[in-house]
Amino acid sequence: MADSNFIDYVKIHCRSGKGGAGSRHFYRAKYVPKGGPDGGNGGRGGHVILRGNKQMWTLLPLKFNRHVFAGNGQSGSGGRSFGKDGEDAYIEVPCGTVVFDAETGEFLCEVNDDGEEVKLLRGGRGGLGNWNFKSATNRTPRYAQPGEPAIERTVILELKLLADVGLVGFPNAGKSTLLSALSAAKPKIADYPFTTMEPQLGIVSYRDNRSFVMADIPGIIEGASEGRGLGLRFLRHIERNAVLLFMVPADAEDIAAEYRVLLSELEKFNPQLMDKQRVLAISKSDMLDDELISEIEPTLPDDIPHVFISAVTGTGLTQLKDILWGAITDERNQIATPSITHRPLDGHHRVREEDEFIFDTPEIPAEEECDEDFDEDFDDMDYDASWDMEMPEYDPRKD
Ligand code: GDP
Ligand code: MG
Repeated sequence: MADSNFIDYVKIHCRSGKGGAGSRHFYRAKYVPKGGPDGGNGGRGGHVILRGNKQMWTLLPLKFNRHVFAGNGQSGSGGRSFGKDGEDAYIEVPCGTVVFDAETGEFLCEVNDDGEEVKLLRGGRGGLGNWNFKSATNRTPRYAQPGEPAIERTVILELKLLADVGLVGFPNAGKSTLLSALSAAKPKIADYPFTTMEPQLGIVSYRDNRSFVMADIPGIIEGASEGRGLGLRFLRHIERNAVLLFMVPADAEDIAAEYRVLLSELEKFNPQLMDKQRVLAISKSDMLDDELISEIEPTLPDDIPHVFISAVTGTGLTQLKDILWGAITDERNQIATPSITHRPLDGHHRVREEDEFIFDTPEIPAEEECDEDFDEDFDDMDYDASWDMEMPEYDPRKD
């Protein structure tokens, strides 16, 4: 896209943390020359997690952070000590971000809501320390598990186009004509999940190389009953701070009345839309002369800014863009902050560890040499049964 402010595509390289190795260790103490196995588990590697952030509206910040690495889990150690989990890497993305594998093009996930967290790459699980493998038949397991390897992946993040301005008007109000008169680029809309009616979207260039997205929203007013679900789904694609541009043609009987009808239709459709900023455009104003305009002017609703426009002659379009941009930037008063952190932000919970920690495919190395402090003459007969009593329930979730 030509506009440097509107970065809607970015490729980044991510790596989760590898799991820490389980420890292979035997208890030693002054009066316990031949203690049992007490090697603790390795820590989990950090995940790479995407988190929706409504303060962001482009993928631009990610252009400067193309490599994202989570921390590795630490190795377990003697005394059944757990290794520390690696730090998770959080990537903050605008709501409406879709993620694809850069190599295969495979769809991976999407992040739509503020604060929504999606685990992009799972950190490797930590290996189990040797005390886990103690059993009646093997009281001196001389092996532990290695941690799981890290996962590496190059992904493409794409921002679904979110509309900054939604057009509201009855059929023939001139919505499509305005959209094509203002649009600098026709973004591809094939990716939108609408089959019957596609929203018409256009990128409107504004002064100083800036731009905003305008959309003709299907189904809100026109064919409301059948298009209702469609319109609702489309609302997800509207910037939550979008401005609504009402369009009433200059030749309407009563412009104020028509505006009120549109407004109440909209409210019936979704009362939340009433929270949005509104602008009224009197379209097809090329049909009016100055005298008519000054007659209409006093009859217009005074609780909404208005502008007389003509998509055909271009009258009022610059003024319209100024008003819309003002309203949009009003809403966007806070711009994105740095987007990769290695710590959950305050008030956010870490991703739930919903994965069962079950080593179904443990890669337990064959018996190997033990740690140097392993007593050569240690044998099963010396095993102290009291160890069994002391063994805590194994709970990997407990840090
Ligand atoms: P929509 O149904 O709201 O999308 O309306 P359209 O953009 O399809 O326009 C409906 C009709 O109004 C078409 O015949 C357009 O040519 C006409 N129209 C749209 N804008 C203008 C305008 O600024 N001036 C005039 N005179 N006619 C217009
Ligand atoms: Mg149309």
